[in-house]
Amino acid sequence: MSSDEHLTTAQTAAETIARSVAELTGTPVTVAAVRPRDTRPLTEADAAFLGEPLRPDPHMTEITASFDIGEDRADLWADAAQPTDLLILNLANSLIDIGQEYTGSSPFPPCPGHQHPLVLGHRPGTVYWCCPHNRSQPLHPLYQAGS
Ligand SMILES: [Zn+2]
Repeated sequence: MSSDEHLTTAQTAAETIARSVAELTGTPVTVAAVRPRDTRPLTEADAAFLGEPLRPDPHMTEITASFDIGEDRADLWADAAQPTDLLILNLANSLIDIGQEYTGSSPFPPCPGHQHPLVLGHRPGTVYWCCPHNRSQPLHPLYQAGS
């Protein structure tokens, strides 16, 4: 897969997560950007000195997905080369961790009828939201491979 295809996969994954988290929390969550992660040691100052622009490595699969959560911005790292279910699971876990930090005491997203947040469940090819006390019982789908 090319780095462009990885970016497209990551963009779609990020939008799937943002839609689901927004729906479940009632907080506006949108994807601000998905771009190759800049892991090179060169800085803008180095590039200016060398007289060359900084260019992403075409083989790099690491991305930064930026989400807007209400008024806040979260820049999350992921390796877009991992299987899509794991990419979604990892990005969504990072997003709800940081979303919970931003939004404070109310569970993000709330578990129906309980005082705690929903958590993510995973089976091969499937990612879903569930109660932490009953992880085998999906409450809301997040991702299903092939659909
Ligand atoms: Zn619960």
